[in-house]
Amino acid sequence: MATVAFIGLGNMGLPMARNLLKAGHGVTGFDLSAASLTALTEAGGRTAATAGDAAADADVVITMLPAGQHVRQVYLGEDGVLARARTGALLIDCSTIDVDTARTVNAAAAAKGFDMLDAPVSGGTGGATAGTLTFMVGGSDAAFTRAHPLLEAMGKTIVHAGGAGTGQAAKICNNMVLGISMIAVSEAFALADRLGLDRQKLFDISAKSSGQCWSLTSYCPVPGPVPTSPANRDYQAGFTADMMLKDLKLAQQAASSAGASTPLGAQAAALYQLMSARGQGDKDFSAIFKLLSGG
Ligand code: NAD
Repeated sequence: MATVAFIGLGNMGLPMARNLLKAGHGVTGFDLSAASLTALTEAGGRTAATAGDAAADADVVITMLPAGQHVRQVYLGEDGVLARARTGALLIDCSTIDVDTARTVNAAAAAKGFDMLDAPVSGGTGGATAGTLTFMVGGSDAAFTRAHPLLEAMGKTIVHAGGAGTGQAAKICNNMVLGISMIAVSEAFALADRLGLDRQKLFDISAKSSGQCWSLTSYCPVPGPVPTSPANRDYQAGFTADMMLKDLKLAQQAASSAGASTPLGAQAAALYQLMSARGQGDKDFSAIFKLLSGG
């Protein structure tokens, strides 16, 4: 069993750390929030006073932080992970961050002799609690093999996407498809309403036709056809519009830095930005239907 330092014990990190404890690993956590530290202690973990202190005695360091700036600070800072982790420690960043930061931090870790992976997740807080997350992992084969047993304690699907940064690339490419497809499905329902086409009929036909996609058949943005979708509970999130906006912005940043053409991704980001500006950022992202339908 491994000794794990877990840094960033928020909505995702805390349940992930709990699953490591359940699997028999030792977890020493650090977070800026005292409440998170108390919750980890209650689950049987130990706490440290700084990120560096947590990393100092660990075989594996896992981070689950809000954004790239926090990841840079925690790894590259004066009392950070790279300064304090012991020789041979494996470093795994599960945060969703920009590809450039993931590659910069990975290179800094490699320069100090550490194996590091970017391993963002999908599955949300439900998946984090149930231990059924999907991990998209970038980094060397050797690091991936070392990390696999630990990731299995927190997730169900673990995919090695390629070298450093490709885990983040996979995450933002997938979520760009999701953001765009949710808008496409929402536009179709808004048009159907105006044309007097019954929503259920459109669903029944498109679900068996070339318009079929996850945004339609698993997460339908209008109430009725898929009873479990957030549309049936006044668009209570799920996956908030602000989180979708974050991922779409990361995709745009990556596209700009790589010279890729992503016009629909740009338009999707603009529409979720508008939703956020209208005070709807905490609603489920499928509530984009209401914006498009004028509801
Ligand atoms: P969160 O805000 O609930 O948790 C982040 C935690 O990091 C907080 O507890 C905060 O106090 C802590 N933190 C910030 N700076 C720190 C520092 N310097 N040192 C130590 N702790 C620090 O966010 P979350 O929902 O847990 O998301 C974490 C990451 O996972 C994000 O990158 C997010 O995009 C990604 N993600 C979230 C979801 C989701 O459904 N919540 C799904 C997939 C991916």
